[in-house]
Amino acid sequence: MAEFSLIDRLRQRAGSRPDVVLGIGDDAAVVDPPRGRQLVLAVDTLVEGVHFAKGVPASAIGWKALAVNLSDLAAMGAEPAVALLALTLPGSNEAFVEEFAAGFAALADTHRVALVGGDTTRGPLTASVTVLGYVPAGRAITRSGAQPGDDLWVTGTLGDAAGALALWKSGIPMLRTGALRERLDRPTPRLGAGLALRGLATACIDVSDGLLADLGHLLAMSGVGADLDADALPTSAAFRDAFPGREAQRALQLTGGDDYELCFSAPPSRREAVQAALAAVATPATRIGSLTRGARLRLLDADRLPLPLPARRGWDHFTDGPA
Ligand code: ADP
Ligand code: MG
Repeated sequence: MAEFSLIDRLRQRAGSRPDVVLGIGDDAAVVDPPRGRQLVLAVDTLVEGVHFAKGVPASAIGWKALAVNLSDLAAMGAEPAVALLALTLPGSNEAFVEEFAAGFAALADTHRVALVGGDTTRGPLTASVTVLGYVPAGRAITRSGAQPGDDLWVTGTLGDAAGALALWKSGIPMLRTGALRERLDRPTPRLGAGLALRGLATACIDVSDGLLADLGHLLAMSGVGADLDADALPTSAAFRDAFPGREAQRALQLTGGDDYELCFSAPPSRREAVQAALAAVATPATRIGSLTRGARLRLLDADRLPLPLPARRGWDHFTDGPA
């Protein structure tokens, strides 16, 4: 019985959309995709002790479980539609599920995402979300279209989420990490920017594991290299206050995960168009370098002299292990 009352809490906040023919309650959901659209699908899992610490509010876990998936759709230039939620709980905790559902729904409702099904099981606390979105046929932005000579851009600011984590690990209570903590707990998926970049960006990836790690994937898939301007990395005031030292800033900004900004390439001839398209969706973006022939990734200082790259580029589940 308890399982169904938990599912009912989620169902109450599931939302609805005209393309959802059948949502929560049957053996599977039925969705009617609009004509001429391709489906874009992604899944991402958050595990307690790996992706979030014990004691993070349930509402933040609910928000983030959806946010990290919507960020993947944003990076593809897709418009999100529906989500499935596989929730594993150590026990039947209705208050937890209520709070989780509220956090999930707060973000889902903002982007008109309907929760259409899922699975509820017992075990170590884990939230796995699958999202489906749409793009006009052939218009998805991939990691593989970047060209030598393209500008390299990133939305928003880098390092905030990793900064919150670093402060917390150094013993500063999360409550006192303010704006940085918000970035870690409730990341904002850049969906508007992703849509705006269709037809402008030649390649795009979301920064989930760290700029160097994720940019590295884009470069490898596109068969290009990059010259990164070390002084151009966009930095928030909160981050600068918390980490005044240049070196500490740079390490967190280059290798810290969980920012969920978009890193993308576009030809220099589209610079103004990129700026206008992103301004129209109120998303700041900064040019952080340019793409080159070959496979080399360089970090350049103000005199265009190469700086050493950190040995560790970002988070890897199998070499870094649980936090
Ligand atoms: P089945 O046994 O046929 O897989 P379940 O009993 O697991 O069905 O689930 C009943 C209904 O509730 C299904 O429609 C399923 O998609 C939905 N559901 C179960 N768990 C969740 C969840 N965590 N979030 C959203 N929907 C859920
Ligand atoms: Mg069934």
